[in-house]
Amino acid sequence: MNRIILHIDVNSAFLSWSALKLLEEGYKKDIRNEISVIAGDPNKRHGVIIAASVPAKKIGIKPPTNLYEARKIFKDLIVVKPDRSYYYKKSNQMISLLNHLFDKVQQYSIDECFVDYTSYKKIYGDEVKFAYKLKNYIYKKFGFTVNIGIGNNKLSAKMASDFEKPNKVHTLYEYEFKEKVWPLDISELFMAGKSACKTLKELNINTIGDLANSDETMIIRHLKSHGKLLYEYANGIDNSEINTDSYNERKGIGFSRTLEYDIDDKVEISKYLYDFSTDISKKLKEKGVYASNITVTIRNSEFKTYNHGHKYLNSFNDKEQIYKLALDLFNQTWKKEPIRLIGLRVTDFTDSNNYQLSLFEENKKVKEDILANEIINDINKKFGKDIIKKGVIINKKGEK
Ligand SMILES: [Mg+2]
Repeated sequence: MNRIILHIDVNSAFLSWSALKLLEEGYKKDIRNEISVIAGDPNKRHGVIIAASVPAKKIGIKPPTNLYEARKIFKDLIVVKPDRSYYYKKSNQMISLLNHLFDKVQQYSIDECFVDYTSYKKIYGDEVKFAYKLKNYIYKKFGFTVNIGIGNNKLSAKMASDFEKPNKVHTLYEYEFKEKVWPLDISELFMAGKSACKTLKELNINTIGDLANSDETMIIRHLKSHGKLLYEYANGIDNSEINTDSYNERKGIGFSRTLEYDIDDKVEISKYLYDFSTDISKKLKEKGVYASNITVTIRNSEFKTYNHGHKYLNSFNDKEQIYKLALDLFNQTWKKEPIRLIGLRVTDFTDSNNYQLSLFEENKKVKEDILANEIINDINKKFGKDIIKKGVIINKKGEK
């Protein structure tokens, strides 16, 4: 069966996201409609432009032009400094939505994701119709536009999303590859960098079709393994899987401490967990995300390490809640032996702890998920109060 892969790519991500931030702060203009750029340091004449608005691109201002050149083209250029933490927050909104809808999501960069749609076709229906829905939903919900590319592998999906921008859905199925891709200049091929293109042009290979129809061994002779890759790409071949491990969310946020002496006093240990929970909560809030997975690590005086983790259906960023879950896991794991190291880590981030996906309400699976989340939330609300009480008692005993 042919796979169906979607590639979702935020249009001029940094510029769009900065536009939203400025609007939130009360700035009157939407810089997406102005001649505007995002540049490292607006005060440096030679600061490099990292993103440009559509109107700016129209008059020839685009990355990686520097500000000096750009101001020569348009002297009243609006220049905005990037805000990485805000970008991260916006990126997470989209990724957590996708993580909620799909099992297999690969974050490819801060503003790009791959999704394996194959098994979802019977749930969400036709992929093109769905892509339009998803694109419009992202705009309505988060305020920025995306391009969605649809193909039978990651390569095609990615190349498709790069066709006309912004706010578009394009397909590049296997049977369309020759017609849509082969006439394009070789530089349009994914992963074909400047030096590879130069080499290929010297071999009189000018279009992607030229490369696809060239002699593979000759290409490999000139460009080694990269040549093999490009030759395969030119023929639309890419069997790589969606790599769900690669997104940075898996790394999570965590703290651990090697203790100066072995501790077997639960009250004292719980103080460390409380401190970690406080720091983790602070970090989650800074990033504007919630976590749904907690792992407690214990190393005993014999240097044997235990990890005990749990994935919860709802997510959290509150220190008390993290603390009570951590303490719970700790109690389940600890064998009352002296401890040398204690650690706490949270992973599996989402941007919200309460999903309201009205658009997808017709979809049974999502409906059930939301329902399940609500039930779990209710249970945790009741359950939570008791556990927090427990925590407070422990803290008091521990001279807090
Ligand atoms: Mg993009």
